[in-house]
Amino acid sequence: MPEPITIALSKGRILEQTLPLLSPLGIEPLEDPANSRHLVLPTSDAGVRLIIVRASDVPTYVAYGGADLGVAGKDVLLEEGGQGLYEPIDLGIARCRLMVAGHPNAELSGRRIRVATKFVNITRQHFAAQGRQVDLIKLYGSMELAPIVGLADAIVDLVDTGNTLRANGLEPLEHIADISSRLVVNKAAMKLRHRELKPLLARIAAVVAAR
Ligand code: AMP
Repeated sequence: MPEPITIALSKGRILEQTLPLLSPLGIEPLEDPANSRHLVLPTSDAGVRLIIVRASDVPTYVAYGGADLGVAGKDVLLEEGGQGLYEPIDLGIARCRLMVAGHPNAELSGRRIRVATKFVNITRQHFAAQGRQVDLIKLYGSMELAPIVGLADAIVDLVDTGNTLRANGLEPLEHIADISSRLVVNKAAMKLRHRELKPLLARIAAVVAAR
């Protein structure tokens, strides 16, 4: 029996929204991943298993062959570089926007501003592309707090409904990118396991297209 095809997923939105794409293919985890402490989950298809990793680690697992496939947000792929991966399918899930946000009427031009974010690479590129110099402050969460307490003039964060920003007296100011989750594939696996992966990718693409 060959090794099962391994798919790396992260808990939360990506897991919740990826499982409905896999179940029409007869791939369902044998235990509830949201409640299980197991990090390797067999599925109803003996040829496929899931591994549960941090969202920002999905590209690393897939690039180094710890998983054949993975589901990663475009934000993570842009920030981490996404090198060494194929990105064949936009799954159209976990959609949101990457935005610069701050106090309403915040004046962000004409001076050097401080921007707090966990997306330091994307943020640097965004402002550099406009010839604007910014000081970056790396945070790991609760970015909305930074402008409130004067830590930063603006933040760069994911925005879905905008409720989190509004609840903290902030608003979106500049659009950086539309985000959704992508299926990523290990390059060596794409060659060596082509006969198994090609039909699986085609079936996933068909489920996505039918939505
Ligand atoms: P919202 O209040 O609906 O605008 O959601 C914003 C909050 O949810 C922020 O803390 C975001 O980091 C997070 N968020 C929204 N959409 C996503 C997504 N697709 N993936 C990851 N985090 C998200």
